[in-house]
Formats: sequence, C-alpha cells, structure tokens
Amino acid sequence: MDELRDYLNILKSLGFNEIFIDKEEKSVEIQEKVKLLEQIAQQIKNCTKCDLHKSRTNPVPGEGNPDAKLMFVGEAPGGDEDKQGRPFVGRAGKLLTKMIEATGHKREEFFITNTVKCRPPKNRTPTPWEQEACWEYLEKQIEIVDPKVICLLGAAAGYAFLKRPVKITKERGQIIKWNGRILYLTYHPAYILRNLQAEPILLQDIKRAIELAYSQEEV
Ligand code: SF4
Repeated sequence: MDELRDYLNILKSLGFNEIFIDKEEKSVEIQEKVKLLEQIAQQIKNCTKCDLHKSRTNPVPGEGNPDAKLMFVGEAPGGDEDKQGRPFVGRAGKLLTKMIEATGHKREEFFITNTVKCRPPKNRTPTPWEQEACWEYLEKQIEIVDPKVICLLGAAAGYAFLKRPVKITKERGQIIKWNGRILYLTYHPAYILRNLQAEPILLQDIKRAIELAYSQEEV
C-alpha cells in the first residue's frame, strides 16, 4: 500500500489528476483483499494470545466490504455476536445498521469490526492489555481494507487507537489525523440504547463520517 501511495504521489506531482484503473485489475485487487482477510480470520480463529479465547463461543473477526472507504470499529463482541460470529448483530448492531440506512447507505458498503475479536466475560470492557494483544489483527485489517476514515464507536475503541483515555462527550465529532487516515470518534450505539436523547448526535456523526469517507478531499 505504501508503494502504491508513493506511486500515486509521483503521478500527482507530474500533473496527473485522474487515473483510470482497469475494472479487471480492480477486481483482482479485491479478490486478493478477500483472501488476505480470510487468512486473518483463520489466525483469529486459532488465536490464544489472551484469556478471552477461553470464554468465546465464536471469534468475531469482522465483516463487510474488503475495499471500504469507511471502517467502523467498536469495543468488543457481545452475546449475540459471540453466538453468531458476526459483529454488531445484537440490539446495538441493529441500531448501527438502522442509522447507516437512514443516511441512504447500506451496511455492506463498509467494513465493521471491533478492537478485540473475542467476547469479554459478562460484556466487560476489554483491558488495554487485551486490546494490545489483539491489535495486530486490527492493524492488518486496516492495512488490507485501506479505509480513508475509521469511525471509532465508543471510548474503548478510542483508547485502542490513541493509547490514552478518551472522553467521548468532549472528543466526538473531531477529525483526528492518524497514519494517513482520519479517525472519527463517536458514541457506541449501546450507549445510545441507554441514552436515547443522544440518538440524533450519533446519526449526525455517522452521516459526517460517511461524507468524509466519500469526499474527494485528501487526508
Ligand atoms: S481477543 Fe484477540 S488476542 Fe485475544 S484470543 Fe481473541 S483473537 Fe486472540
């Protein structure tokens, strides 16, 4: 990806504003991404790096468009996710899907995952150590999908990226530049289920994150 970015920067410096990628070439690139994401899912399935593997029913690697411009990252799988092996499929997940659809988009356009891939017991917040142990998988997923924007759902997701405590009420809606991408912090949908008055704020943030992801503006 770094080589491709450098190559595009060279073309830009030479005055090329547009390039046309052959559809077939793009489809090969996406197939390669799917293959790499499957390899990571397999590694996660066999992973015993932290104690969360002991209580999981199914690991939850993440799912969605392998070429997404926007990636949603939540805290950790919950009970429904653990049962199904899929991210954001419980009540909070349904709310996230509903909000994405309210902006005129589809959940499948984006890649959705969590900072840890196994459910913490009793849905507790993952510890910084567990997030650190699981980080290599998330890092690889980001590298492969190569999203322009990463929407962080909740303070624990913010902590995994920024390596410091995050106050969502103060920091939500801010654009944070991170490794050539945009981090965009907002509430976790589970928080909204308990604080319905904040629902319009989450909707507004999701809309903004999608706009940023699809805008032509460079990071
Ligand atoms: S949470 Fe991550 S690091 Fe821990 S066992 Fe699961 S896949 Fe491995």
